[in-house]
Amino acid sequence: MLNNVKVVLVGTSHSGNIGSAARAMKVMGLTNMVLVDPQCDVDGQAIALAAGAADIAQNAQVVSTLEEAVADCALVVGSSARSRTLEWPMLEPRECGEKCAQEGLTSNVAIVFGRERTGLTNEELQTCHYHVCIPANPEYSSLNLAMAVQTISYEIRVAHLEQEKAQHPEQAPAEYPRHKELEMFFEHLEKVMLDTQFIAEDQPGKVMNKMRRLFSRARPELQEINTLRGVLTAIEKKIGSR
Ligand code: SAH
Repeated sequence: MLNNVKVVLVGTSHSGNIGSAARAMKVMGLTNMVLVDPQCDVDGQAIALAAGAADIAQNAQVVSTLEEAVADCALVVGSSARSRTLEWPMLEPRECGEKCAQEGLTSNVAIVFGRERTGLTNEELQTCHYHVCIPANPEYSSLNLAMAVQTISYEIRVAHLEQEKAQHPEQAPAEYPRHKELEMFFEHLEKVMLDTQFIAEDQPGKVMNKMRRLFSRARPELQEINTLRGVLTAIEKKIGSR
């Protein structure tokens, strides 16, 4: 799925942002970067900021129009801080992650990010099926380009991890002893404590209450109770009690 997600950067002017975006993608498992009409090169600064993700910036596909970048994509989502100018179907970042993860299983999907200064044009925004807006501080809602890439890539990863979890359900849940089994264990424990004279029959004190409290808190599994019963039986054998 992650290989079917393209991160499309339109008209980027700071090479450092390309590098930082590459890093943001790679940490979330995304690899396909497309640069539309970039206003800078993938230069030393891009490589420096990409750190271990230089390969993504260097292998980025470069095209001249957004049309070309998304031609093979069945779902195109435009990332924009501005939702006021155009009335367009909107996605929350989480929904965007889920939608990309879902549709990315069977077809290519693109998330499109705009220019540092001016974002995406209305025409570019209208190329997209949906817009996603990161609900930032309304007084200052414009994230740095690479940080917007990071936020959306993270949501795609979260959705991807959910998909994986659903495919590999957790191991069978623990089996706990039934009340009766637990009572038999307490009886057994008390008997061994008496037989070993840890407690005296005429003065048992509060030891059993404390043991009950301990085992209620620990909530042992059935297997663990069986092991403890085995320990008690071994003690009985050793001391020759009936
Ligand atoms: N001044 C520009 C901001 C550009 S920031 C404008 O008003 O559009 C560069 C890119 O980062 C944006 O085009 C968008 O793709 C992304 N971005 C920044 N802040 C965002 C936000 N709050 N929600 C979604 N995308 C955002």
